[in-house]
Amino acid sequence: MADVLKHIVIVGGGSAGWMAAAALSRVLPPGTVRVTLIESDSIGTVGVGEATIPDMINFNALLGIDEAEFLKATNGTYKLGIEFHDWGRLGESYLHPFGSHGVDMQGIDFHQYWLAAKRAGAAEDLQDYSLCAVSAKRNKFALPARDPRSVLSHMRYAYHIDATRYARYLRDYAEKRGVVRREGKVVDVAQDDHGITALTLESGQVVEGDFFFDCTGFRALLTDKALGVTFEDWSHWLPCDSAQTVATRREGPLLPYTKATAKTAGWQWRIPTQHRTGNGHIYSSRFMDDDEAERILLDGLDAPMIGEPRKISFRTGRREAMWTKNCIALGLSAGFLEPLESTSLYLIQEGISKFISLFPTGDVPDVVRDEYNTQLRTEFEQVRDFLILHYVATTRDDSPFWNYCRTMDVPESLSRRIALFREAGRIFHYSDELFSKPSWIAVCVGQNVVPERVDPIVASLPAQQVSHSLASMHAAMVKAAEGMPTHEAFLARHGAAIDKTDMLA
Ligand SMILES: Cc1cc2nc3c(=O)[nH]c(=O)nc-3n(C[C@H](O)[C@H](O)[C@H](O)COP(=O)(O)OP(=O)(O)OC[C@H]3O[C@@H](n4cnc5c(N)ncnc54)[C@H](O)[C@@H]3O)c2cc1C
Repeated sequence: MADVLKHIVIVGGGSAGWMAAAALSRVLPPGTVRVTLIESDSIGTVGVGEATIPDMINFNALLGIDEAEFLKATNGTYKLGIEFHDWGRLGESYLHPFGSHGVDMQGIDFHQYWLAAKRAGAAEDLQDYSLCAVSAKRNKFALPARDPRSVLSHMRYAYHIDATRYARYLRDYAEKRGVVRREGKVVDVAQDDHGITALTLESGQVVEGDFFFDCTGFRALLTDKALGVTFEDWSHWLPCDSAQTVATRREGPLLPYTKATAKTAGWQWRIPTQHRTGNGHIYSSRFMDDDEAERILLDGLDAPMIGEPRKISFRTGRREAMWTKNCIALGLSAGFLEPLESTSLYLIQEGISKFISLFPTGDVPDVVRDEYNTQLRTEFEQVRDFLILHYVATTRDDSPFWNYCRTMDVPESLSRRIALFREAGRIFHYSDELFSKPSWIAVCVGQNVVPERVDPIVASLPAQQVSHSLASMHAAMVKAAEGMPTHEAFLARHGAAIDKTDMLA
């Protein structure tokens, strides 16, 4: 085996493949490691993946991408969070915003003060203390201020993008920086004791490499078919396994947030991009057939369709190892946790950045591979627990699906967290996990996981002092949001991709 990697081969040209190609082309010094990407036009990509989380800003920064150019290229919009309808209880809604709620005081989390005031009937809803939520509900947007004394420093955001345009944009980026694209279907994978050595395309062409990325989507051609890495199925905790998707014309104001509306056997998303709105109904085929799922999707649309609904089947879970021998599974080939909190592109990004920080020599030391797998496995588990929370923390008993979710056994790591929150609203942020305290609090509170008592230190403070602090925080946020431009006006100045007349394209 060579001492240094000479040729990295990526199979698959969806978001995962082109994100990896773009990042490698950016960080590898020119002329050191060749990067080739093979994709099959006849197979195509999954073509969904439109909502993101704030970490995508870091990925764009790694690539040195200008935000306005990125929004223009992907028909992107800004996202301040997700509005959940009918999850905890039919008829109820809450917003899971990016960023924090309020300001922590004297070393105690803000939400403890809020819980105390709420009990005393002297507080607004929790989301009314989040600048992102307050702005989102008014369709307003501004970039975060750098000055920590400014209320605007509390802004956090991500994007809604057109996934197909995103892959195309990254392809241009990577090809300009030396990545070689080959079109063709891989039909054979050659291996020796160290791992994969070469791939044969349908045309008979052979592509040799010393490191491989499996970005072949749900097919997992290298990881599953060639290397036989086991898939750990989590569908008993996340029972949705199907999606019906369709785009609609863009009508009405451009909302700066995703909507996730719970349905009889799953939920429906609404994701606004500049030129159209993405919609999808995610459901469990154990509890609903495809025809009914399609009907529910269509009933839930708020504008005329563009094209016809498309069905996608999936399985929730992850590979037991994402890095095996000289091959890393990235994207859907590594695992899928359903798109409820828009985490898939983030997990791809994490796979890429962990690979770069553990960049191996040609003999791929075991210790490097093990570290990568440990870190990625943990990330998948932490995201999984947060997603399960949305399903188990419900009082809904109006369908067999919700009865199942409400009463299912959950991982011990999650049941411990819920029990601690129920006891006195305590939440902790564990080792580098993606979802921080405000996210857990937003979902627990939003879905009626009610603490039995208030933190004893906060309980001993004068109630008036607490409610006064809360009122002034809320007023400052409303004032800041009122002063912002609308989302649409902000975008028009900063990343408009199209004329309004092009919206049907
Ligand atoms: C219903 C649904 C909704 C989603 N929503 C979101 C979301 O809102 N936010 C988010 O972050 N993520 C979301 N995701 C996940 C996101 O779509 C994927 O993580 C992302 O697009 C990466 O996909 P991929 O590149 O791994 O696979 P794909 O897009 O499927 O690409 C696979 C590639 O492999 C190639 N290929 C396959 N076999 C071969 C072969 N034999 N030879 C050559 N090439 C081959 C294909 O041609 C293609 O280029 C969603 C996923 C689904 C299913």
